[in-house]
Amino acid sequence: MTHNTGDSLRDLAQSTQDFYERFGVMPKGDVDLTGWIRNFQEEVHELIEAAQDGTNKDHIAEEAADVFVTAIGVCFATGVDVEKLVQQMYKVVAKNDAKTHETHVVSDGKIRRRNSG
Ligand SMILES: [Mg+2]
Repeated sequence: MTHNTGDSLRDLAQSTQDFYERFGVMPKGDVDLTGWIRNFQEEVHELIEAAQDGTNKDHIAEEAADVFVTAIGVCFATGVDVEKLVQQMYKVVAKNDAKTHETHVVSDGKIRRRNSG
């Protein structure tokens, strides 16, 4: 099944669910998180290595996508479904879009809320 609705967040989450179901590994209810977390950590490590190497942008993007997929797997393993993931991703989009230089400031390499008082 092709996932190409133009909503890449939803497509990735739904594709990941379908992928895990197709291979019979879609978590149903309480599961041991160990393997899901291990897969996620492996992909984070691969992304870090690709980023530190820095020479192959395609490879960096590929590893980032692997991180997204395995993060979704961790969420599924805890019972978070596609709809909740998509809702939360758009909440983050809205929150970040609402942040301005009036509300936030870069401090120690992080974008932080300005102190109001
Ligand atoms: Mg990878």
